[in-house]
Amino acid sequence: MDYKKEKLQVFFKISQAFVVLSLAVLFIALMVYLYVDETTYNLIVLLLIIMVFAIVLFAGLLIYMITIAYKQGKINKGFALIIGKFIKPIMAVALELAKLLSIDKNTMRGFFVDINNIIVNSSNPKFKSDEILILVPHCLQWAKCGYKVTNDPFNCRRCGKCDITEILDIAEQYHVKVCIASGGTMARKAIKENKPAIIISVACSRDLISGILDVDYIPVIAIENLTPEGPCINTKVDVGKIKDTIERILLEEKDNKMVHN
Ligand code: SF4
Repeated sequence: MDYKKEKLQVFFKISQAFVVLSLAVLFIALMVYLYVDETTYNLIVLLLIIMVFAIVLFAGLLIYMITIAYKQGKINKGFALIIGKFIKPIMAVALELAKLLSIDKNTMRGFFVDINNIIVNSSNPKFKSDEILILVPHCLQWAKCGYKVTNDPFNCRRCGKCDITEILDIAEQYHVKVCIASGGTMARKAIKENKPAIIISVACSRDLISGILDVDYIPVIAIENLTPEGPCINTKVDVGKIKDTIERILLEEKDNKMVHN
């Protein structure tokens, strides 16, 4: 089936679901209006009030837990599990609200990047070296470099003009996989092929958040890149953060060939 037709069908399915749902709500409301006596009507309204109150209370609790986690830079494992279950819809709603209220979305994204890392680190996760994937964006490469490093990062000549040199040194030192992705599609492909158990992802806050929202079931430790020359060109990263993260999550094995400095 051609792709355009497929997209239109998906849109129709969503539209159908929306129309059916709206009609169902309309039907229920009409039935309530026509046939329900005053006592039952009051009961329904009361149940609705209790439901909304419970939602507000739960949202308040989540906001409280997230605030405490952010201030302390850590969170109890149980709370992390609860927040982790709801963090994706919370992020999506918060970002839409930020847009509506003209709040700086990048600051909001940066906040959620930190919260994501706090949640992932809360369980003190440990992985074997071959389960770890470092995913970095193509914009880290020096813009005038002629070597194609997206297909094979080790095409890099390690001249030191960009941070790719140090990232490859670290990947080799700890025997972890590394991928330099030119975009979301390539990043997804790298994840599919490498099947990592954890991803250390470097990108701008926007790409980090969309990556976190996109990747299900794989924890992502996110590191924001630096943009001394503006976004998407000759970007930099605090390579020490990548190294520290690997050292923190790497499972110590007897036969680990890791060389500690
Ligand atoms: S370190 Fe040098 S060779 Fe490697 S990607 Fe950067 S500029 Fe190119």
